[in-house]
Amino acid sequence: MESQKQRMERAAKIVAGLAEWYPDSTGTPLAWHRPLELLLATILAAQARDDTVNLVMPNLLARFPDAAAIAGAPTEEVEAIIRTTGFFRAKARSVQACCRQLVDLHGGEVPGTMEALTALPGVGRKTANVVLGNCFGVPGLVVDTHVLRVSKRWELTAEVDAEKVESDLCGLVPRSDWTSFSHRVTWFGRLFCTARNPRCPECRLRSLCSFGRAREA
Ligand code: SF4
Repeated sequence: MESQKQRMERAAKIVAGLAEWYPDSTGTPLAWHRPLELLLATILAAQARDDTVNLVMPNLLARFPDAAAIAGAPTEEVEAIIRTTGFFRAKARSVQACCRQLVDLHGGEVPGTMEALTALPGVGRKTANVVLGNCFGVPGLVVDTHVLRVSKRWELTAEVDAEKVESDLCGLVPRSDWTSFSHRVTWFGRLFCTARNPRCPECRLRSLCSFGRAREA
């Protein structure tokens, strides 16, 4: 049975190994120039491909350039622009409600705290951590489907609930690495340690991963 100290040491080796493997994958694949753009892009990215969102966001902001314009836009127009991201009616509602609250409470600007971000309609901890980590330099550990799956394979958590997984990982990964670590794990999960076909025989982290070692046994 691995102690917490041993798990922390193994986590440190995973963090270092990933940093060596994916030195440049420290940010979100969502394109953004200002916090509003990343906040809305992250809402639209639920159940959607990042490249689809990256195509949609410039169209949305070209037509409605700020939070006030989006909040006051005809909903059918917002729906039509974001349609390709899926669940477009619910997403249009979230995006407009979020922008309305930004205007009402924050002068149209995106706030830089977890508390204020998660109080916005349609914004959970995952979205808040993406915004905090990328836009405000506040370390945030983003738990998406890849981080969830790969962390379980690494036995860094036994939880299934994203918030509990976040809490477990935050206890194992140094705070300064939270943002870059989660982005690297996302890339690693997409490209290498995929859901259906993890490439264990070629994996540089296999010695740290009982799931991978068991697959080869
Ligand atoms: S050994 Fe396999 S399961 Fe473990 S991290 Fe590598 S690819 Fe993923």
